[in-house]
Amino acid sequence: MPDDCLFCRIVRGDIPVPFVYETPQCVAFRDINPQAPLHVLVVPREHVASLDAARDPALIGELSLAAAEIARREGVAERGYRTVMNTNAEAGQTVFHVHLHLLGGRALGWPPG
Ligand code: 5GP
Ligand code: ZN
Repeated sequence: MPDDCLFCRIVRGDIPVPFVYETPQCVAFRDINPQAPLHVLVVPREHVASLDAARDPALIGELSLAAAEIARREGVAERGYRTVMNTNAEAGQTVFHVHLHLLGGRALGWPPG
């Protein structure tokens, strides 16, 4: 858990952010700059910089199933929602601790920008 990683600090509780959901492997909290009525970030407790650096299929699968559970709890599962993992510069990754965006609560355009 690097000292200088923002999401490691949130996972550790150094920065107080309410978790909307957590499991032994991951935590989830609301994005500070929401792009939809529901915008939650699902973050593994373990530091992994990006999807490109990930090697554990169970950990990556955990993030998707956690997002699906949050979507059900938040009441958007039937209407629909999107999960997105931005990887490296051209995809716009800004925090280099892998995370899954869960977006819902409005119609989402496709293709993404
Ligand atoms: P990325 O651009 O790496 O795919 O996503 C990073 C996300 O983290 C952005 O949507 C950004 O708004 C969010 N974010 C950055 N800093 C913070 C923070 O301190 N707290 C929370 N809750 N979200 C943050
Ligand atoms: Zn980290």
